[in-house]
Amino acid sequence: MFSPEKIEKMRRMGLKITPQRLAILEYLEGNLSHPTAEDIYRHVRKRFPSISFATVYNTLEALKEKGLVRELYIGGTKKRFDPNTQPHHHFFCLSCGNILDIREEIRIKIPQKLREKTIIKEISLLLVGICWNCLPKNLTKS
Ligand code: ZN
Ligand code: MN
Repeated sequence: MFSPEKIEKMRRMGLKITPQRLAILEYLEGNLSHPTAEDIYRHVRKRFPSISFATVYNTLEALKEKGLVRELYIGGTKKRFDPNTQPHHHFFCLSCGNILDIREEIRIKIPQKLREKTIIKEISLLLVGICWNCLPKNLTKS
């Protein structure tokens, strides 16, 4: 279930709550798979066969605008959506194609020069490689 607080927040923000939108929210809540709009569409269509891809897409855009989901910027792949709006890092696996949350804290040092000429609002890293689920299948680290 999507948390009542988020639904309340949506109402206050003037987002119309329809059963289709609720189904999208429910699918996203606690979803750690970073689904694409197509994934979400395929899932919600099972319950609402008449829903259009545009409805799903527009709902995601609206949620994103209101800060209720975030879009991940991962080069070369389709847009992925993440209901976890807290800053966190990701691992993109070249073997299984999954995008996994990294729970460990990663400390990085931003060079002074870069800090001076930019405004950095958030640091979210994308690590690319072979994930912990795939590694045993891919022989050993070399
Ligand atoms: Zn993997
Ligand atoms: Mn995530």
